[in-house]
Amino acid sequence: MMNNSQRQLMTTCTTPKFATSDGFQQELRRRVESFFENTGRSERDCPSMYLKTVLILGWVATSYLALVFFAETWWQALPLATSLGVAMAAVGFNIQHDGSHQAYSSCGWVNKLMAMSLDLLGGSSYVWARKHNVVHHTFANITGHDDDIDIGFFGRLSPYQPRMAIHRLQHYYLWVLYGFLPIKWQLYDDFRDVATAQIGEHRFPRPRRGDLVTFVGGKLAFFLFAFVVPLCLHPPWFVLPLYLVASIAQGLLLSIVFQLAHCSEDAAFPLPKPETGRMESAWATHQVESTVDFARNNWWLSYVIGGLNFQIEHHLFPRMCHVHYRAIAPLVEETCREFGVRYMTHASLRSGIRSHFRWLRQMGAPVSSISAAMKSPRPESS
Ligand SMILES: [Zn+2]
Repeated sequence: MMNNSQRQLMTTCTTPKFATSDGFQQELRRRVESFFENTGRSERDCPSMYLKTVLILGWVATSYLALVFFAETWWQALPLATSLGVAMAAVGFNIQHDGSHQAYSSCGWVNKLMAMSLDLLGGSSYVWARKHNVVHHTFANITGHDDDIDIGFFGRLSPYQPRMAIHRLQHYYLWVLYGFLPIKWQLYDDFRDVATAQIGEHRFPRPRRGDLVTFVGGKLAFFLFAFVVPLCLHPPWFVLPLYLVASIAQGLLLSIVFQLAHCSEDAAFPLPKPETGRMESAWATHQVESTVDFARNNWWLSYVIGGLNFQIEHHLFPRMCHVHYRAIAPLVEETCREFGVRYMTHASLRSGIRSHFRWLRQMGAPVSSISAAMKSPRPESS
């Protein structure tokens, strides 16, 4: 069901249309619903999620307080800044992401509150909801529509983007730039998006009233915690490098998790037919085939990154709390097999990272072409 935000975006630009459903989505939904009925689990408001929220927020608060008020030497400050960056990424993966997708609770205000944790991290929950929930989740890996695969001239992530000479080295330098993503986000991207009222090809309404207060208040609160308070207690040459360390730790983790799911050799990058604007696949099939799971047996990784190693399940059921992804994954995989939908997964984090590296190298190579990108998946990674 399309919500108001989606409608506002959809009506302001030419958007690809998905093929009519072939029954895959309905059957999958039916099986997942009977899973919840049979197990007595609740899709949202899960006690383990509330406990996790307390643990992660405690991790952020402890790292921040120890770093700002107690660290006196570099050997104390560096691990604390790294811990703070990883904890901030964990807030994003777990609390903010579920809240923004309305997957955290059945109460709207609880979801809103959890989504607003992003404002304290320096990002805008208002812009994120439109950029991620609407644009990315509807048009995953569709070039010209999915803003997540458009990083400008810095990199070529899709076979349909123009190649520049510098992209030949992108499989090396992009890992460094990934670390700077939060800084760009905090200081530039949100302001640009709100000023232009546009995300890629898609226009969106600027924040007003309460949303505007949250946008401005969130940015001010972030600058207060990130710069004003630390600079009252420490010199700039101590504060600014540690801000960089925390941001790089956060950015690397965020970027790697999101890139592994969509920018790999095994993810599809289909385009709508130029004459009709229609996609070949139905929406649910498109979500599965443009996404890749990784390291599904790594419980600790899954816990920290909010189940986002199960991105296929997330894309199919974005309003389901992430603590259930592991349990429904076999169901999803089996249904995909029955309906002939390509379901890809990397056995480990390492194999996912290697696949992303090869994809970047392939997209940056002078001989890279659409046909090379569309070659059949590598059997070793599934
Ligand atoms: Zn999402």
